[in-house]
Amino acid sequence: MNFSSTPSASRPAWDPKTLIVAGGRPAHAVDAPVNYPVTFTSTYHSQGLAAADERVYARFSNPSWDPFEEVLGQLEAAARPALVFSSGMAAIAAALNLVPAGGVLVMPKHSYNGSLALTSELEAAGRLIVRPVDIADTDEVIAALEGAHVLWVESPTNPMLEVADLPVLLAETKAREILSIVDNTFATPLLQQPLTQGADVVVHSVTKYLSGHSDVIMGAVVTSDEKLHNTVHGYRTLHGSIASPMDTFLALRGVRTMAVRLDRSQSNSQILAERLSEHPNVQAVRYPGLKQDPGHQRAAKLMSGFGAVIAFQVGGSADGADKVIGAFKLITGATSLGGVETLAERRARHASEPVSVPENLIRLSVGIEDVEDLWADLSQALEQL
Ligand SMILES: *Cc1c(COP(=O)(O)O)cnc(C)c1O
Repeated sequence: MNFSSTPSASRPAWDPKTLIVAGGRPAHAVDAPVNYPVTFTSTYHSQGLAAADERVYARFSNPSWDPFEEVLGQLEAAARPALVFSSGMAAIAAALNLVPAGGVLVMPKHSYNGSLALTSELEAAGRLIVRPVDIADTDEVIAALEGAHVLWVESPTNPMLEVADLPVLLAETKAREILSIVDNTFATPLLQQPLTQGADVVVHSVTKYLSGHSDVIMGAVVTSDEKLHNTVHGYRTLHGSIASPMDTFLALRGVRTMAVRLDRSQSNSQILAERLSEHPNVQAVRYPGLKQDPGHQRAAKLMSGFGAVIAFQVGGSADGADKVIGAFKLITGATSLGGVETLAERRARHASEPVSVPENLIRLSVGIEDVEDLWADLSQALEQL
């Protein structure tokens, strides 16, 4: 079985909303399936090692990765396919391996807590030096780039939703020949394409919006640079942090609907954020789509949507937030985000969360349910306070 996809060079450039549906398909031919089959194998018939296209062994390469890697690479406007990994953290570990030994890494103090935990372990082991910054404070970040080797960016940040001035920061890293890596999980390539703004590398937790159904753990690294691509590919092969063929199939099936999912989740988010910000039992709301939000102007300029995560604070400190989450009947109290169902979590319950994340902050990942059902659940839970 050898299905090759329609080469992208031989077709018109597609809008990303079309690409996620039509990309990574076998070429149109009579009796060809419309989806690639899942290839469960550990090895391949092979003889010599001369042919460049010999797959050899399934830790090196699997045809089940190819369509998803092609679609994600093109979605991020990369010159090369993405590289899939066993989780977002596996992709992040691969990208962090690009920091030179003893190198200085500038990163948001409110990065994803797994990224913070991993970099602090690497720092303790003498592998690198971490310089935490407020990523929304452009002057502070630029000052921190002095003598640095790598800039790590998340925008918006998880869970504080701070928005970085991405093009300005990336122009600065380019001018200083500092490697730039952007965790684009929150925005997705439908809202922001960091490589087009000058980033060297993009990482994703495919677990979230790209797969979109809370049934897969997977990650990806994307870059246009041949040398970086080869380095990350070599890392994946030797560390063995590969994605399973079945998970990659599910992620590809999930990404097909990302545009419609994100549209609904974003319109729900805008309505819920506005109502939350007027609720007497809510102390503060962060959502870049709110006119009064500190990140609003920047996000409106740089992103084609405001995303679907809201952070809000309630009275009664940690107990108040736990009470609200405990009272939900529709919304699920759970970690993670980016799925079709609305999830809520008090982030500070994790020991690895930075102390500057408030105890009473609830991160709401807004799904695609009916917005009035969501609001009814939120308001009855807030009445418990
Ligand atoms: C969830 C998440 C990760 C980690 O991804 P996993 O797939 O859980 O390993 C990394 N970055 C961000 C922004 C995330 O939300």
